[in-house]
Amino acid sequence: MPVIKRFTEGLLGSNTYLVWNDKTGEACVIDVGNPCAIIAEFAAAQKLKVKYIVLTHAHYDHILYIEDFCAAFPEALTAIHPNDDVLMDDPNLNCSVLFGSAHEFRHCDLMLNEGDTLALGEETLTVLHTPGHTEGGICLLGGGYLFSGDTLFYDSFGRTDLGRGDMDTLGNSLHRLFTLPEETIVLPGHGTRTTIGREKRENYFLYM
Ligand SMILES: [Zn+2]
Repeated sequence: MPVIKRFTEGLLGSNTYLVWNDKTGEACVIDVGNPCAIIAEFAAAQKLKVKYIVLTHAHYDHILYIEDFCAAFPEALTAIHPNDDVLMDDPNLNCSVLFGSAHEFRHCDLMLNEGDTLALGEETLTVLHTPGHTEGGICLLGGGYLFSGDTLFYDSFGRTDLGRGDMDTLGNSLHRLFTLPEETIVLPGHGTRTTIGREKRENYFLYM
């Protein structure tokens, strides 16, 4: 089982997760909407080796501190789905324009597609392509956890009115997630954790 720490000071309350293998110290950062300094300090104190900086999708509130994270973890590879890598340097589609600070971000190092795995020693995170909120949105599955980005939230799911979002596509992605074991712990891009089983039964928005 990987060890996970959640940071919650992100823009619009976006979460950044630090995930690591406690035997080897190999680590990965998931989304970078939280300021880097406190996370870099924590990683250094735990003697972690950050190998990957993964973006669940390319919206501003999940990517804005990418340059700070690359500077803090120069050996880490940045990773994203190719359909969202093209949003990185597009200030309209990465939504930085909405926040009044049009920004072109650099492209990522590593393209993640459906079924790819990221290894942290013997722990692996598997990429699930879950489009709908964006065309290249991904979730990461490993150790009984699902990092769900802005696809699935506690009691809600990602909006589809930005850029190339699409409700039918998101619906298909959600139904796919609901085929995972009910006890899978969901760690979303915003807000608190939940489980697949709870959202299947209680997610109010899905039954509107
Ligand atoms: Zn988003």
